[in-house]
Amino acid sequence: MSARPIPPTSELSAPYWDAARRGELVVQRCEACEARPFPPRARCPRCGADALAWAPVSGRGTVYSFTVAHRAPHPVFAGQLPLVVAIVELAEGPRLVTNVVGCDPAEVTVGMAVEVTFEPIDDSEMSLPVFTPRA
Ligand code: ZN
Repeated sequence: MSARPIPPTSELSAPYWDAARRGELVVQRCEACEARPFPPRARCPRCGADALAWAPVSGRGTVYSFTVAHRAPHPVFAGQLPLVVAIVELAEGPRLVTNVVGCDPAEVTVGMAVEVTFEPIDDSEMSLPVFTPRA
């Protein structure tokens, strides 16, 4: 469990958060062109179809970019510094803004293999997808 601001949700993003609560990572998939848009959309940004269905992804990816925060971006993060804020590119293509946890921030590199894990948020029913180094 960790203290975190609770992410805002919407009707469009609810399936993503419902899956995260179950410990599953899902991303929309266009049934017309197989694009994997993220964040969630009402229509496919590639072909315009509205046939977007939620589908599980492997949860594996690589660090596309990252920074290490030494000052808390919000007071609740004060006890969690230094904090790795990263863009992780999933094996299926989408890129997520997330955190890399479970290792020394000095060990994080661009291209590092990572996999998803889920961090419950204090005082909520929500879990946040974050990533750890893949063995
Ligand atoms: Zn499409």
